[in-house]
Amino acid sequence: MTISETSFWAQVCANFDKAAALTGHPKGILEQIKQCNAVYRFAFPVKRDDGSVEVIHAWRAEHSHHKLPTKGGIRYSLLVNEDEVMALAALMTYKCAIVDVPFGGAKGGIRVAVHNYSQGELERITRRYTAELIKKNFIGPGIDVPAPDYGSGPREMAWIADTYMTLSPDKLDGLASVTGKPVGQGGVRGRREATGRGVYFGVREACDVADDMKALGLTAGLSGKRVVVQGLGNVGFHAAKFLQEGGAVLVGLSEYEGAIANPRGLDLEAVMRWRAETKSLLNFPGATSLTDRNAVLELDCDILVPSALENVITVENAPRVKAKVIAEGANGPTTAEASEMLNRRGALIIPDAYLNAGGVTVSYFEWLKDLSHVRFGRVGKRFEQGAFERILAAMQRMSGKTLSDAEVKLIARGGDEEDLVNSGLEDTMIMAYHEIHEVQKQKQIDLRTASLVSAIDKIAKSYQDLGIFP
Ligand code: NAD
Repeated sequence: MTISETSFWAQVCANFDKAAALTGHPKGILEQIKQCNAVYRFAFPVKRDDGSVEVIHAWRAEHSHHKLPTKGGIRYSLLVNEDEVMALAALMTYKCAIVDVPFGGAKGGIRVAVHNYSQGELERITRRYTAELIKKNFIGPGIDVPAPDYGSGPREMAWIADTYMTLSPDKLDGLASVTGKPVGQGGVRGRREATGRGVYFGVREACDVADDMKALGLTAGLSGKRVVVQGLGNVGFHAAKFLQEGGAVLVGLSEYEGAIANPRGLDLEAVMRWRAETKSLLNFPGATSLTDRNAVLELDCDILVPSALENVITVENAPRVKAKVIAEGANGPTTAEASEMLNRRGALIIPDAYLNAGGVTVSYFEWLKDLSHVRFGRVGKRFEQGAFERILAAMQRMSGKTLSDAEVKLIARGGDEEDLVNSGLEDTMIMAYHEIHEVQKQKQIDLRTASLVSAIDKIAKSYQDLGIFP
């Protein structure tokens, strides 16, 4: 890794500067878009189960307030630092703009190695973290709305919502203070798998552009494409699952303990069962085991989906990456310099700020649900179903043909919450892909730069509409 590659914030700024230079916006407006508006760095004590007291270090960064609330996950990791939180918050700003989700970007971090703490200790840490955010006005349905990220999930989000509502009992919209909650606690169906499902929609869309695939020496369509996934957490597992269901062949998978490979394909469900039983991916029957977990990045494949952490494809290993498509499930997996190298050799990088935006898209739906206090589909589902049934009955009368009860039931089904959420997600990922692809074609640039040009144009417009800048 080069020195500039060690700062994630510097990476994000380098990508931003490259895109900004292609827009005609005034210097001041570009500087305002790039800066991280606010960072709250704090520390608090937590009592461990053995009675000792430990000081926990934590952050919340709000990168842009051009739209409110700000939005972004909370990362639980020993590697969390201010540079990383600011970089991830900036990516959130661009991500929301790319998929037209009306939020500014934010990100939180708690420096803990999750596996070293009991559930009770994690709950005390999460609730105290939330209380600190409330004290400084860094959380609220109209202020800043956290979500899960690396190391956190629905359980932590439920603790955050409960703490927020306990300390703000008069707030009717308290559930909208955080997203990614369990469905029984104000969450929305489809949120858990949303980021991975979005990765699948994005990859499928890219593979369907025949000219782009031809330029890579590939045929159009996802079917039969050889895929490698790094990290089988929330994003990686669901991305792998939907890509496999969509016809791709999983030829390599990795986790913390190592990687497995099989050019004939790996059955994800069987692999996950094996890992649950043996506590490791390694020695999965029929597969080759790789004890160097990073070797997975260099396997022969068509599509590589890094879904663990940032800065894993660097100038050091980029020359050995064989994938023709790098689909960034994680945030920042490819450094700016490594991206240039891969671009030069003609690889297609589907950038993080677009590809993993499924999570924030469905978080937006969850926030809307919590603000409106009604489940999607609750009002219209039965009416829709009745209308479809009346149309089918009229068609059967006119044609003299009859459908079976099972066919009528299938065709006349009204959309429930999960259908509507998944359909909104699919539409968002398709529309956004073609928007950034159009910029890429027009300007003859790489897709990451195109996605940032698109984001910068939209954010600049919102400042211009306010009359703050000329
Ligand atoms: P997660 O904690 O659910 O899963 C990450 C997995 O990666 C873990 O199982 C971990 O053991 C594994 N891992 C860590 N280092 C590894 C390595 N070197 N090799 C192989 N596996 C490794 O986290 P997540 O929510 O899936 O997030 C993963 C990435 O996706 C992060 O960059 C995050 O910012 C990004 N992201 C997450 C969401 C979301 O909705 N959760 C949304 C957008 C982006």
